[in-house]
Formats: sequence, structure tokens, C-alpha cells
Amino acid sequence: MKYLLLTLFLCIATPFWAQVSTVDVENITATIEPKAETKSVTGTVTVTFQLLKDASEVRLDAVNMTLLDFDSEEMTITAEDKAIVFRSDFKKGASYTTSFRYRAVPKQTLYFTGDQIWTQGQGKYTSHWLPSVDDMNDKIEFDLTIVAPNDQEVMANGALLSREAIHDKIGWKYDMTHPMASYLVAFVMGNFDITTLRSESGVPISLFYRQEDAKKAKATYRHSEELFNFLEEKIGVAYPWQNYKQAPVRDFLYAGMENTTATIFSEAFVVDEIGFNDRNYVNVNAHELAHQWFGNLVTETSGAHHWLQEGFATYYALLAEREIFGEDYYYWKLYNTAEQLKEASDQGKGQRLLDPNASSLTFYEKGAWALHILEELIGSAAFDRAVQSYLTKYAYANVTTSDFLEAVREETSVDIASWEKDWLQQTAFKAEQAYQSLMKSAFMESYFEIAALRSLPWEDKKALLEGALIFPNDFIGQEAIYQLASEPIEKALPLYKKGFDSNNLFVRQAIASSLERIPAELRERYEGLLKDDSYVTQEIALYQLWAQFPEQRKTYLDQMKGVEGFQDKNIRQLWLALALATETYEPEATEAFKNELRSYATKEYSFEIRQKAFQYINELQLYNEGVIESIINACTHPNWRFRSEARNLLGELLKSPGLKEALLETRTSFPPAERAYLDRVLE
Ligand SMILES: [Zn+2]
Repeated sequence: MKYLLLTLFLCIATPFWAQVSTVDVENITATIEPKAETKSVTGTVTVTFQLLKDASEVRLDAVNMTLLDFDSEEMTITAEDKAIVFRSDFKKGASYTTSFRYRAVPKQTLYFTGDQIWTQGQGKYTSHWLPSVDDMNDKIEFDLTIVAPNDQEVMANGALLSREAIHDKIGWKYDMTHPMASYLVAFVMGNFDITTLRSESGVPISLFYRQEDAKKAKATYRHSEELFNFLEEKIGVAYPWQNYKQAPVRDFLYAGMENTTATIFSEAFVVDEIGFNDRNYVNVNAHELAHQWFGNLVTETSGAHHWLQEGFATYYALLAEREIFGEDYYYWKLYNTAEQLKEASDQGKGQRLLDPNASSLTFYEKGAWALHILEELIGSAAFDRAVQSYLTKYAYANVTTSDFLEAVREETSVDIASWEKDWLQQTAFKAEQAYQSLMKSAFMESYFEIAALRSLPWEDKKALLEGALIFPNDFIGQEAIYQLASEPIEKALPLYKKGFDSNNLFVRQAIASSLERIPAELRERYEGLLKDDSYVTQEIALYQLWAQFPEQRKTYLDQMKGVEGFQDKNIRQLWLALALATETYEPEATEAFKNELRSYATKEYSFEIRQKAFQYINELQLYNEGVIESIINACTHPNWRFRSEARNLLGELLKSPGLKEALLETRTSFPPAERAYLDRVLE
């Protein structure tokens, strides 16, 4: 079962700007002080660049920055809308170093969420908070010192050299030894505890987590070491940076981001032992780690080669998961993405892998499929040698698809011309080739046999479905259960019992999600799902039991009282809604329940929690002034999906009488961004 989480990775468009042929920016050393109160940043930058041609000006990308002062006799420095500009009589071959101080109030790329500050460079441009080079083709060594309050921890690119007092704060001095593209610059500041492991090869791996999540750290980061060791061995090129660090942050815009040595990921992946079964971090963990080679060590020259980053990271993450979860899991995931790709392709929406405007589905999943087929075609030994020579030859540089293909051709005598045509050039998805490859798995073969029973009459398939539920495979067992839903319950009953007896979490989850009426004979077993090792199953079971057995509501609510569920508090929020919808349940606590649900809508909580709270508040019509304020705040949230949901909700509410007039009167009391939004929608 794949729980649907908004796991959006990144897709980027490349700005094209040709300064790289004039100047090579070599080093940017910066001391950065972010200020939460004003959501601003002040920085001191020392930049070293070398001229490739004579020139009279050199520009660093820098959006809306104020130049505070600079110290240079050999050049002038000015700030323009989108650049810091250095002017002098620059000579080809000469190196120049200069320093300046600046201030910025970034509209994007640097985010202040709760007690955390973090960055997102890819697709958002580091040049909003740090003067740098948006073009990925100029690789720079960045050495950052981040100035933080005494009680905060900082993660940034490279190795931590020292922590030194700067006025009443601490400067966390980080150091890189190799250059990288500017979109990979990052830092996180917050209250963290840190656990450090070491890979087999001796690379320090630091795992950050909120102090209050200490008990979840183990489940959240499970398999981190194995993933690292596996990838280093399979890729066959030593991990190319000084260390590796990871930190979860609230309200992150994507699932994860592979900043060099400093991956940032969504707090939604912080899970306990039960949560791990449904939505663990393993895949994203492996994906971002794989990018440290594919994307960070070798970087695409432009968006046409984006699959060299996303296709590779997706494929190697899948290989790493195969190592942990086994071959069936590997084929199951390939099968699922093949289904999605085939569907898009059948609708005429197939895309070339080399199309710079392709979708994530193409860059990530079609890219992974292309590599899976290539490795099958030329064999793992040649595949691995090709990847090694490609990574070694272009280390710390930029690459195109031809560079990779050339490395492949050097390592194999197998003709890859038709692979290139089918998988890189074609818009259509090669479903038949994919199917042939899936059929190499005995598990997939059995799965297709069971899936083929869907259209058969009960008597013809009963025995086979029953067989599939004895010691079931996760995915085949699920498929067998789903087929019961269309049969009369008297017939299906013995098989549901088999499903409950199978002791398989996936099978029980399939029962919870597909059995619409719970028959009396199954009630006791179904009630057992309230204790299942899955918050997805628990949530469905609580709702279904509450709805179908009204006389038992108190028992169910008492039983589930203290359960939080995932990071979005899925169980707790459902529980509050059901308790409120049960008139006789703790009537003296009704106000407290309402207030708790409303509190989850406020900006004190992550957008995932707020999203659910808005839903229940709307269903139960628990609106009050505070909730309206929370919705207006959400209308300016950095997460676009959440923001747009909040905007739709506010739009609906504004149709109700009186609200518009009331807001017209009070709008001046809102913070500036919210007020600006209100001004727009009220007029
Ligand atoms: Zn990625």
C-alpha cells in the first residue's frame, strides 16, 4: 500500500545567462545573520572571481539587495534590482577578491516557520538571500558562517570548523572543499538534537531532529547507514563530500532537497514505530543521498538533461530500497510507475525524457525506467563501470546526456541505439518492453494471475483467491481482498476471515479500506483494527466503527482517546470531530474539544495539521473569529497548495452574509502580507 502523501520533488527550469563565458566565480565566503523578527538577513560577502575575457563589469545575481558598504580600491560596487555589479577594467586571466555588506528581505528561498529558519534554493534561487550565480554552470566553493542565537543549532554545507561568539550570538563556521552550483547552498537553524553515525567508509552522517521528537528519531532515520553503505558500493565512487547531514523542517515545500552535504526534508516524514509502516522516509532518504553524486557532483548543463539528476536519483533510491525491502517491493514500485506512465502515454500525454519542460513523472519515473532497462540490456558490470567513469571524468563539473552515453558506449559492445530511441527520444512509453521486464519477476507473474481474476465469476476464482490469502504476499493479498468487495458478503465472509487470520498488515489495511458494511460476524475482528500497526488502518477503522455501531461510540472513543497518529495528527483530529458529533460523549468537555480543533488551524502548527483542521472545522461548522484569522493567515502561506486551498475556502466564506463587511472594518489590524491579500479580495 502506498499512502498518498504529497511527495512533490523538484523540477527546475534553468535561467539562461551567458556570463559563465566571461567570468568564473571561484569562492564565496559569507557571514550571514538571519533575523526572525524582521524576516530579513544581513551578510558580509567576500567573493573571488577570475576573468576568462577582458571585461568592464562582473555581476552576481542578487535580488532586491541593499548594499550597506564595501571595501575596494580597484573596483566600484553597486546594487541593482537583480544583481550586485562590480565595475573596473578587468583583465583576462586575472583573479579579483573583494568584500561587501548587504541586507535583504527575501520574498522566497529563505523561510521562517515557527522556531525554524531554512532555505530552498532549487527552483527558488539562492540569489534571494545570498549574492550568488543562478546559472548552474558556474560552480563555486561556498564557505558559510551562519550567526544564530545561543540556544539554536545550525546545519549548513560542508564541515563545521568552529562555533565562535559574535556579539551575543554564535557564528557557526562551515567550510566546503569543493565547488558546487548555487542552488545547492543551504542552511537550517532551529532547536535540534543531533546523532552522528559513520558510514563503513568513515564518512560522518549527522541526523538532526527536534528535541521533542527524540523518541521518533530511530524510526524516522531507520536504515540511513545501510542506504549510505549500499549507494557508495553500488555507485562505486567514494562519497564526494566531507560529511552528510539531514534535518527535517516544518512546512517544507517538497518531500526533500539534496543540498550538498545538507539534505532538508519535510517534517511529515518524522514518524514513530507505527507511522514507519505507512509513510517512512526511506525512499526520500535514499533519493536525496543519491543526488549527492547525481546532481551535486555532476550537474546538468540545462533542463534538457534533468533526467541525469532526477532519473538517476529515483533509480538508485529504488535499488537501495530493493536492498532493504526486497525484490518484490522493487518490482511492485516499477509496476506502479509503469501503470502511470502507460496511462499518460495512452492519453497522448507521453513526453520525451530529454524535453526540458517534461513533468516530474517523466524526469523521475520514466528516467528510472530507462536506467532499469539499460542495466538489464548491458548487464550490471558494464552499467556500473560506465557510471563510475562518467562520475569520475566530470566530477565537480557539468554534464549532458551525450557525456553519459559516451561513457556507456566505452564500456559495452551491446548496441544501445534502439534503447536510446525508445527510452530517451520517444514520447510514448514502451509498455510492452516494460511488461516483459516485469515478467522476469516470479512475484509479478503471480500478481498478474490474481489480478486477471477480476472479471471471472466467483465460483471460478474462489479457490485461487483463498490460496492467495494463505501466507499472503503483501500486494497479492491486497489484490485478493479488493476483489471480494463486489461479491455478496455471505460468499466472501470466509475469505475475509482468512484475511484477518493472515497476520499481514497490508491485507488488513485492504480490508479496512474496501469493506463497506461490517457484518456482525466480523465485528470483533474489525474492532481489533483499532490497535493495528498502521495509522492509516486505525483512522479508517475508527470512523467506520463509529458510523456503523452507534451504541458502541463511547467504547471506541474511550479506546482511542490518547492516540495522535501521524505528524498531521490524523487520529487525534478525527477523534475530536467524532467526539463532537457524539452528543452524549463528555458533554462537559465540548468547548475544550472545539477549542483544541480550532487551535490546530492556527499558525502555531504545520500546514499538514492545519489542512486537516480546516476540513473538520468546515464539516462541523466550527467557524469563529479566530478560525477566520487562521484562514486569512494561511492565504499567504509559502506552500502553494495549502495557500490555494485556504484562498478557496475564504472565497466560499465571503459569500456568507456579514463577513465581508466585518473584514473591511478590521483589515487594518492584520499583518502587512495578509492585509495586502485582504485588500485584493475584498475589492
Ligand atoms: Zn530529486
